Amino acid sequence: MLKGMVILITSSALVTEVIWQLYKMYRRSQRKVINTANGCAKQFCKDTEVNIDGEVMLFSKDSALCRPHLGHLKPCAKLDCPVRHLRRILDYLDSATDSLDVCIYFFTFSELAEAIIKANNRNVVVRMILDESMAQNDTSQLMQFYKEGIKPKFKKLDTLMHHKFVIIDNKILITGSLNWTKSAFFGNFENIIVTNDPVLVKPFIIGFESMWTFFNSTTTEDSNHNSRNSSFRSLNISTS
Ligand SMILES: [Zn+2]
Repeated sequence: MLKGMVILITSSALVTEVIWQLYKMYRRSQRKVINTANGCAKQFCKDTEVNIDGEVMLFSKDSALCRPHLGHLKPCAKLDCPVRHLRRILDYLDSATDSLDVCIYFFTFSELAEAIIKANNRNVVVRMILDESMAQNDTSQLMQFYKEGIKPKFKKLDTLMHHKFVIIDNKILITGSLNWTKSAFFGNFENIIVTNDPVLVKPFIIGFESMWTFFNSTTTEDSNHNSRNSSFRSLNISTS
């Protein structure tokens, strides 16, 4: 009798363990997989068959070593060569067919400015928001943009327009810590993420539209409440 009970309990425990292991295998099979080979990430969602591409670019103090070969835009063998990262960003900008929404705190990098001007010249709608301090800075590309018919928006505020992101064709987001300056590309610890995940891109589209309306307006009386931070806070997106 006792032996039978022991066998029954042991069997039940074994069956429970098998069911638990099968359940864990099922959960693992449903999990999104991120493959980061070569710095490129592909994310697969079995449930919805959504295919998301992404890319991470990291910069460090060693990025300064690559500055000498910026001239021909030829990357060296290093995977994290900043010239390689720059080439990738230029490729993304060159891929724009409909729109470029640019929101960069500090913008002095002429190669990147040229890519935006090129997009404008092929009838891509370019909208640009910069920080007001850009208007005071001789190294900014502001005059170049004006000359080419692009009118960046900026406004005197008691807060900074501190974003660094670009939305391409409302589908691809480039964002990170990096200002679009040579010193940031070649010498700072910085990061950039590129993604076409709609869950990430959409709040930036909504945030940009909200900022565009605000920066287009002529008044500054409600700047404390209507800065770019408020629009993003309402979407629960951190902008620190
Ligand atoms: Zn290099």
